[in-house]
Amino acid sequence: MNIILLGPPGAGKGTQASHLVADRGMLQLSTGDMLRAARDAGTPVGLKVAAIMAAGELVSDDIVSALIDEKLATMPADQGAIFDGYPRTAAQAGALDTMRAADSLVVALIQVPDEAIVKRMSSRRVCDNCGLTQSVSPDSKSEEEDCPYCGGDLIVRPDDNPETVKTRLKEYHQQTAPILPYYRKKGMLKQVDGMADPDQVTRQIEAILVAL
Ligand code: AMP
Repeated sequence: MNIILLGPPGAGKGTQASHLVADRGMLQLSTGDMLRAARDAGTPVGLKVAAIMAAGELVSDDIVSALIDEKLATMPADQGAIFDGYPRTAAQAGALDTMRAADSLVVALIQVPDEAIVKRMSSRRVCDNCGLTQSVSPDSKSEEEDCPYCGGDLIVRPDDNPETVKTRLKEYHQQTAPILPYYRKKGMLKQVDGMADPDQVTRQIEAILVAL
């Protein structure tokens, strides 16, 4: 069984995906992570997308759908996929429909209002060593804090600055939200309260998977 985690940036898709990986042995397919890896490695795709990502805009549909397609091709057929940050446009949703993982697919919409997203993003940090995302107190100076898990430096993701967060939210409402009716009509869309505490959010998502 496969699941799409849909929701605005900062809704907790990545956190929830890592719980599903740990609890159910599913595979997380995060286009954001794939693109950051390509950017950091300086691959041709990475060079193409770096400025777009820094601006908080969306990378072209062809690039992200090809990344997903390639990853799915290497997965065992019986391993569940968690789509984290994909699809984000109608064209991507159409591309996913043609892929093997379109069978046995459910969509969990993690709902968090914009005001809460802006607040969350201002306290979001990522460890530059283990990559774990975590939350610090809003007035924290990131350079003064170390990762509690590995001791690495906690840094602000470059596209988590307030201006870029605004652009990312705009992209979400303009490009991603319009695909919700598509999944709703097909009976695939399940709502999740993203304002609940993270363990409760996990339980809501587990309940969706169990009912599949
Ligand atoms: P994320 O980590 O999912 O917030 O993604 C970080 C950035 O990568 C986004 O702001 C986009 O620039 C790009 N990106 C990630 N996934 C997609 C996607 N499915 N379609 C287009 N751009 C994407």
